[in-house]
Amino acid sequence: MDQHSEPVRKTDILVVGAGPAGTAAAIEASRVGLDVLVVDKATFPRPKCCGDGLTTSALRQLEQIGFDPATVPSWTRVDEVVISSPMRRRRTYPLPRSAGTFAAVVRRSELDHQLVLLARQSGAAVLEGHELVELEQDQSGIRATVVNGGRNLAVNARFVVAADGMWSKTRKLAGVGPTDYRGDWHAFRQYFRNVSPRADSKLIVWFEPDLLPGYAWSFPLTGGRANVGFGITREEGGHRIQNMKSIWQGLLDRPHIRAMLGPDAEPEAPHRAWPIPAQLGSLPLALGRILFAGDAAAVTDPMSGEGIGQALETGRDAVAAIVEQGIDHPTAVRDRYEKSLRRGIGRDHQLAEACSSVLTSAMTAEIAIAVTGATSWTRRHFARWLFEDYPRAALVNPYRWRQRPLGRPAPFRGFETALPHT
Ligand SMILES: Cc1cc2nc3c(=O)[nH]c(=O)nc-3n(C[C@H](O)[C@H](O)[C@H](O)COP(=O)(O)OP(=O)(O)OC[C@H]3O[C@@H](n4cnc5c(N)ncnc54)[C@H](O)[C@@H]3O)c2cc1C
Repeated sequence: MDQHSEPVRKTDILVVGAGPAGTAAAIEASRVGLDVLVVDKATFPRPKCCGDGLTTSALRQLEQIGFDPATVPSWTRVDEVVISSPMRRRRTYPLPRSAGTFAAVVRRSELDHQLVLLARQSGAAVLEGHELVELEQDQSGIRATVVNGGRNLAVNARFVVAADGMWSKTRKLAGVGPTDYRGDWHAFRQYFRNVSPRADSKLIVWFEPDLLPGYAWSFPLTGGRANVGFGITREEGGHRIQNMKSIWQGLLDRPHIRAMLGPDAEPEAPHRAWPIPAQLGSLPLALGRILFAGDAAAVTDPMSGEGIGQALETGRDAVAAIVEQGIDHPTAVRDRYEKSLRRGIGRDHQLAEACSSVLTSAMTAEIAIAVTGATSWTRRHFARWLFEDYPRAALVNPYRWRQRPLGRPAPFRGFETALPHT
């Protein structure tokens, strides 16, 4: 069969990538009646290198798209955060124990698989094992080719939501963006089993002097398991990225880290490392009829490296722009999308970067942690700000006030899970 006689799949929106950004876009678009085709080169459930931590903001986004935590076996609610300062002083920050969930940990393989199933239930067609390999666009729309096991599928779409992650193939095929961008953080994680009861129930962050402004973490998962890892910024630690494996072994040998993980803690799967793009503006947000979302738009929080909430938010925002401005008005859609990202997440990034600069030296980090841990009031409120119960820059950004950032009810109030043992 020659190329011209291949069947062409026509769709309103082609979503490339079925991670949180892509599935959130697919769910929103299908629900308003648009025809949606999602393609992902992986087959789900697929592994994803991540800390698996869900902030309050990510939980709100998940709740708004109708996600059911009960579908995910590893869902672990978190009520306390332990922070170890550069001088190894430990402080515990409580999250509200009232109805609702302010932080949770969930294996990405499970979360993303359930998001794919939810996208299908919402009406989107999801093709797994289908890789985008060609793309061109003109005024009228986009023509793409996806490949599955050597077979080509031609797709004609009116819009593309590029949610294909850090190394976005869409960006490369569209010929935009820097070719030498390698992200702003590099992070490394490994699953552990037989961790101590403390590591099994609390979210632990170590601000080690040699990682600053990066940090090491242990995020609790059910059944005595934890996601343990560390991240360093490319700016401060770029030269050390090649040595992350030996840094990792050194971290695990530190007595205060080992003591918190427990004597029986052992790795249960190979470690993985991956870059984190966390600087809005370093990658294009839109081009013609293509809107970039999630890691493909570098929207991850530059202070914490958390990007699931931002991926969900931008995937949904891309669709909101198409719906509000109309699918036949690409310029207006693009403008609306770029403006909303710059005014919302862009300002959050500015504030997060300012806070991150405090964490670059051990002395200022020590002072900052002492101040945030000074009273029960500061500990409570810092934990909620850290976990993005309200946007980072909520208080100084009038654009966010429209979204009523303060005093919103906790997400998943109706969802009952046993509190982890203490
Ligand atoms: C070690 C580490 C720890 C982290 N910890 C946290 C954390 O605890 N909490 C948090 O909120 N964030 C964390 N992050 C960040 C978070 O993982 C990302 O921000 C998030 O996954 C971005 O989601 P996304 O949907 O944009 O992209 P992804 O989840 O990367 O999904 C992209 C999808 O695109 C698909 N794809 C790629 N190319 C193609 C192609 N050519 N054709 C078809 N499909 C394609 C991929 O298969 C993939 O499924 C961490 C990151 C790292 C590296």
